[in-house]
Amino acid sequence: MTEQKLFVYNSLTRTKEEFIPLNPGHVGMYVCGPTVYSDVHLGNCRTFISFDLIYRYLLHLGYKVRYVRNITDAGHLEGDSDEGEDKVSKKAKLEQLEPMEIVQKYTVDFHKVMEIFNTLPPSIEPTATGHIIEQIELVKTILDAGFAYEVGGSVYFDVEKYSETHDYGELNGRKLEDLLNNTRTLGGQDEKRGKLDFALWIKAKPEHLMQWPSPWGMGFPGWHLECSAMSNKYLGHQFDIHGGGMDLMATHHTNEIAQNIACCGKTPAHYWVHTNMLTVNGQKMSKSVGNSFLPYQLFTGEHALLRKGYSPMVMRFFFMQASYRSTVDFSNEAIDAAEIFYKKLAESAKKLAALQQQKIGNIDEETDKTINGFCDDCYASMNDNFNSPKTLEALNNLSKWINSYAATTRNSGEIRTETFDRLRKTYNAFFFDVLGLKLEDTEGGDTDELMQLIIKLRNEAKTNKDYATSDKIREGLKQIGFQLNDSKQGTTDWIRI
Ligand SMILES: [Zn+2]
Repeated sequence: MTEQKLFVYNSLTRTKEEFIPLNPGHVGMYVCGPTVYSDVHLGNCRTFISFDLIYRYLLHLGYKVRYVRNITDAGHLEGDSDEGEDKVSKKAKLEQLEPMEIVQKYTVDFHKVMEIFNTLPPSIEPTATGHIIEQIELVKTILDAGFAYEVGGSVYFDVEKYSETHDYGELNGRKLEDLLNNTRTLGGQDEKRGKLDFALWIKAKPEHLMQWPSPWGMGFPGWHLECSAMSNKYLGHQFDIHGGGMDLMATHHTNEIAQNIACCGKTPAHYWVHTNMLTVNGQKMSKSVGNSFLPYQLFTGEHALLRKGYSPMVMRFFFMQASYRSTVDFSNEAIDAAEIFYKKLAESAKKLAALQQQKIGNIDEETDKTINGFCDDCYASMNDNFNSPKTLEALNNLSKWINSYAATTRNSGEIRTETFDRLRKTYNAFFFDVLGLKLEDTEGGDTDELMQLIIKLRNEAKTNKDYATSDKIREGLKQIGFQLNDSKQGTTDWIRI
């Protein structure tokens, strides 16, 4: 571990705080995972890549990290509310499949995309359907504590009761009166007592595809409940970091905190970490605006907004160029610039692997000091709330020296052997281990994995008789030099042309 202190921005206190884990040397981190009912879009990828950076840096510092990221496979209703259809069930009906077939398909695809972006798998990836018993137990505890009530087979959290003794809007920095004023009035049909009350357990209609027996009849858990149940189970009543996208703060995380305090008397996490959005040409990425594209469209360039395809590492690098708390705006120009920058740093990593210290001339004290300073900068910037753009600047400074030193007509100064070793160790540690970047120009390995994913997605389009998409993928790949080999058995192979 380094001697420098790590500072983390805590959404709960709205300040940057020194990171002190509850158990020295150990970190418990919970991140809200995907709802597996459709393809993961790039905005979600950014969230998980941001937490991958945090996870990787904590590991690099020597912490033993238990990283829990859930899979939501039931209970997430349309519009993130307590009414409407379950997202997974709706898709299952639409595709005439079992809900668990939908879950399996999109979970497998999600894992593949995460692997292509070189994110490390979490330590535990629990599912909502795998923890129904724990969720029912939690509802019982909250009922016993007097913070919930049952109405006709559903159980609701009593926000106004909770607010008598606790600050419900704490995470969002909102007063209860403001929240009440901004919520629609209850209609005659509503079972809820208060406007802000939310469902812990929802009575299922007979036709609802996923339902379980409970003390309150057949039903299913409310969306917020699973994260409280699973974080409690795997990380305890209190743990270090709870993360997710910023859009989860106002409702999902606010309700999670209320549930945990109601059942265990404690705010579950010490540090609440939220990642910002990905925008496209200044606009929020959204299907209705037509500016939302999927990872494979980015790789193949098959989207009206894309000038060409970009590799997963270029995209990952592009995300690292902004702090996780800032919005990232996607444009062809911005990602073109990221591509050039990524290639420059990757080239230096390759040169460094082959570089031997030449020990020509005397030690240039000034240069030696400067190189040590750049190595310090890598840590200082990551210790400042995981500031990856600043880390890239430090790597860029080291890269300049590497290039100059590797050149035959070099004009860089000689440095001490310890400094040279430190430079090599630091550059490799930050480029590969912390920022999670890989070198991409070797054939086989990564390229093949990526091509196999694209082939699979194209085969699916063909199975769904979506020939327009399947042709687009084929033509798009051809333009960037990849030929798919179609056969009667389908497509399984590709070559470079
Ligand atoms: Zn969650």
